[in-house]
Amino acid sequence: MYFTVTIVESFIQKKLWLECNDSNFAYYNFNTMYTQNYPSRLLAEAVEQFSSLPGIGERSALRMALFLLRQKKEDALNFGTAINNLVENIIFCKVCHNLSDSETCSVCSSKKRDGSIICVVENVKDVMLVESTHQFNGLYHVLGGIISPIQGIGPNDLEINSLIERVSSGEVREVIFALSATMEGDTTNYYLHKKIKDHVKKVSVIARGVSFGDELEYTDEITLGRSIINRTPFENSVSE
Ligand SMILES: [Zn+2]
Repeated sequence: MYFTVTIVESFIQKKLWLECNDSNFAYYNFNTMYTQNYPSRLLAEAVEQFSSLPGIGERSALRMALFLLRQKKEDALNFGTAINNLVENIIFCKVCHNLSDSETCSVCSSKKRDGSIICVVENVKDVMLVESTHQFNGLYHVLGGIISPIQGIGPNDLEINSLIERVSSGEVREVIFALSATMEGDTTNYYLHKKIKDHVKKVSVIARGVSFGDELEYTDEITLGRSIINRTPFENSVSE
């Protein structure tokens, strides 16, 4: 009977607490069908939070929680403060939508950057990746995703209008598309090109070498750096 209930519960992905006795609690996680006995509800709650992180299973989460408990109280609390500050205080740059500690991010506000070139990327991780190549000295525009009808992401869900506004200012001479080499990436490139081509002199797309994976994040800095240097005019990459 219990087993049947467990299976049924696992289908609806329900988590619940069962109090075993005065001092011990069993935490039943029906998502993973993995049951661990915890001596403390507080510990189990911390484990639940850690294990909600991508790639972290319950065992690793427990190791992390126990590790923190072994640290100096001050160090462990700094960990919590950093997460708190991250969630409470980080904002998106009002110009490029990169993560920032202030209204305008460090790239957009830098006098050393070339404001006439904008590199369009899918997410914040891609900005960090392109920065790591040291081959790009312009500004960025973070779309916040790519057009994906399967996932229900349309142009209005992305930062496209603000890109059009930026290029309409007349100060931008080149826009570089650095999106994933997937069908969704190509669709997004095509859509963006149609929207901005009348406002900007040059639209280019990063070169895609043999070792260039589907997603930008799987590319090493050297390959990506070369892809930026060897970018091609967008018109050459499509047959309209
Ligand atoms: Zn910015």
